[in-house]
Amino acid sequence: MNPLTDGARAGIRLAYAGDALDWLEQHVRFPHSSRSTHFDRHTAPWWNAVIHDFADPTCRQTFVQACTGAGKSTALEALTCWAVAQQPGPMLSITQTDATSAEWMATRLMPVLNACEPLRELMPTNRHHVKKDGIYFAHMALMLGGANSSNAQEKSVQTLFLDECWQYSDLITQFKKRLHDRWNGYALLTSQSYEEPHQLTEEWRAGEEFVWCHKCPACEQWVKPEWVNIKYEEAKNERGEWNWGELVKSVRHECPHCQHQTPDTMAARRALTQRSEWISEGNDHVSGYRSRRVSAQSVYWIRWSDLVIQWCQANDAKHLGVMQGIKDFRMQRLAQPWQLEAEMPALELEAAEYFVNEWQDGRPMPDEAARVMAIDVQQDHYWVVVRVWLKNGHSRLLWAGKVLTLDQLREIQTRLKVPDKRTMMDAGNSFHGAVYDRCAKYGWTALIGRAEDHFTVRGPDGKAVKRYYSAPDQVVAPTGRTAPTPQFPQGKRAQVLFFYWASDPIKDILANLRNTGSPVWEFPQDAAPEYVRHMNSERKRATVDKRTKRTRLRWTQTGRPNHLWDCEAMQVLTAQILGILPDMIQEAPQETVDEAPASA
Ligand SMILES: [Zn+2]
Repeated sequence: MNPLTDGARAGIRLAYAGDALDWLEQHVRFPHSSRSTHFDRHTAPWWNAVIHDFADPTCRQTFVQACTGAGKSTALEALTCWAVAQQPGPMLSITQTDATSAEWMATRLMPVLNACEPLRELMPTNRHHVKKDGIYFAHMALMLGGANSSNAQEKSVQTLFLDECWQYSDLITQFKKRLHDRWNGYALLTSQSYEEPHQLTEEWRAGEEFVWCHKCPACEQWVKPEWVNIKYEEAKNERGEWNWGELVKSVRHECPHCQHQTPDTMAARRALTQRSEWISEGNDHVSGYRSRRVSAQSVYWIRWSDLVIQWCQANDAKHLGVMQGIKDFRMQRLAQPWQLEAEMPALELEAAEYFVNEWQDGRPMPDEAARVMAIDVQQDHYWVVVRVWLKNGHSRLLWAGKVLTLDQLREIQTRLKVPDKRTMMDAGNSFHGAVYDRCAKYGWTALIGRAEDHFTVRGPDGKAVKRYYSAPDQVVAPTGRTAPTPQFPQGKRAQVLFFYWASDPIKDILANLRNTGSPVWEFPQDAAPEYVRHMNSERKRATVDKRTKRTRLRWTQTGRPNHLWDCEAMQVLTAQILGILPDMIQEAPQETVDEAPASA
């Protein structure tokens, strides 16, 4: 076939002048979906404006921060059909990796394109023109791929879709350069939200901000989706445990203007959606740039009660210093950026009502779960924190300070009755060989801090779980030997138990515990003055990862000594290993297939 006549024929078919939504409803089918078999503007109506943005020649960019499960994939597939049939031009669609891109194309996009009647004549007949990384139509190329720099450096395109772009913010500028400032270039950025500071903050601010609001059925005023307007009774039993059944029954939305109550039913949530529109915030913005946010609160097929349960569980963990649940809820469900500082209580280090001198004989404290000694190793001395962990996850400092010799360490450990295995020595520096020998001598545990975000390990049921420390492992001490036996007169080579741990997220938890203070996390009236100084020694700063070139927030020293801060971080880590603090990284339920349900 002659591509020129093909293209010309395609050109003739571009005469459609009506509403893009009419065209999509007429032509787009979702054969892979058991739920919605055809495009329907009423199913996930917040995407309609994005479709109009794309068809609007004055719109240059749309950035959608959308919660998981908002029907994004379906919208992107429909938009791709429209692009190929009605707005042809070289197009690039990027997802996280080449593999996820190839899978999306094979399982979702190809069936939708093949089912779209107006595309039938345009689909390449030559099988070599349909590849993992693109479909080469006679009239345009549709390129697909993962977020990597080779995909960011090819020839110019007219349309750019960047999906889940919070994960590759470092490449966004490079990808956008591929539009080469075309007058008709268009970029669609879709993402859950992200941790600030982040490059996407600038993309967001560049756009005219639209909020998906509903008009209150009672007072007729516009209502923004604000999480505080979801109300519920904090139902708990006499043991202080959640009574989820009671709580779920009480969930409702309350109008901030007139207090009108909307119950948490599919019909009521859907009725609000039918009264919803995108309302501009009227902010200063770059002409043709639009920013839109979709909160799970507005997605009528997501029950508010499910969100409330997730929120309550995340807050329980937050009270023990673990912010991951709240962070995920904000970024994945509310689709709002996360800022650690904004979530943390104001810093005010205040000693609790106890004196450590009264507890130096090693007798147990009421409700004690475990006591832990954490040792930071320097060239010719050590820094030590001994902390008592209570059964409810609260903890009290028992001893903190500088120690000169190994014998003194042993004396403190035995006097305060810290078990050998719960005496943790930092092996994350250049003296690790010597550290293993010292651990071997007394049966202590070695800890090695790493820059990892998390470790994936097998949980008790064999499933992979993410947490902040590795599976336990053993290393042979360089010279350490066990006591001699008749069979081994020299003793055996001693094995030392060790864990790797992710120091940044553990320090996030520590920072939150520190800022929360008493009664959750306590230090005594008579703590050494250097203790408070060390506890203020690190700040979170944006740094560029040398390996991945990505910007990330890392805890960095401010110039003040930080050794006791490091010891306290090892304390938090050990409390997680012992099961006293929650250790699994909570994640919002990720729908495997992000599609809109059948319209009711
Ligand atoms: Zn109202």
